[in-house]
Amino acid sequence: MIPLTPDDALLIADIQNDFLPGGALGISGGDQIIPVLLTYLRRFQAHGLPVFLTRDWHPPNHCSFRTEGGLWPIHCVAGSPGSLPPPAFDAPASAVIIYKAIDANREAYSAFQETPLPRHLQAIGVRRLFIGGLATDYCVLNTVKDARTLGYDVCLLMDGIKAVNLQPIDGRQAEEEMIRLGAVPIRVEMLAA
Ligand SMILES: [Zn+2]
Repeated sequence: MIPLTPDDALLIADIQNDFLPGGALGISGGDQIIPVLLTYLRRFQAHGLPVFLTRDWHPPNHCSFRTEGGLWPIHCVAGSPGSLPPPAFDAPASAVIIYKAIDANREAYSAFQETPLPRHLQAIGVRRLFIGGLATDYCVLNTVKDARTLGYDVCLLMDGIKAVNLQPIDGRQAEEEMIRLGAVPIRVEMLAA
């Protein structure tokens, strides 16, 4: 069992309509992790611990879009319906929203990349991050990598992530890489009450 401590924070990546089934860049099964993510969320709230939610938040001409020569269909245009969280993802008002990849000319998969997240974490003395959300092989992977590089302990929410899987093994390889980098794989039943 893993007890939560005052140095812990929860970070959930990119639960946004465009990344859910039916969205512009819908991830198969992406909606299935929402209930367990809400369980994590409530647990952190009950302990008075900080919660960070990232949002992919692009200008209409973002370099990652195919229309601009990038890899992805147009998705998560800032403020569009696709950029918003689904009604089922009922985040607390106290959660801190981290907007990322807002510069048209820069892709940014990591929640740490050109965002205020590092300063937030320093200011409140977070030392361990519990990280889940979408997608395993992009935003989760790159956020975990940066967190480890910056010296944070990381617990990876194995039951709260889903992969895009452009190649079928991408998600599994990303999980293995994060664990190799020191992320501790956990499931919600491992959290001590
Ligand atoms: Zn994006």
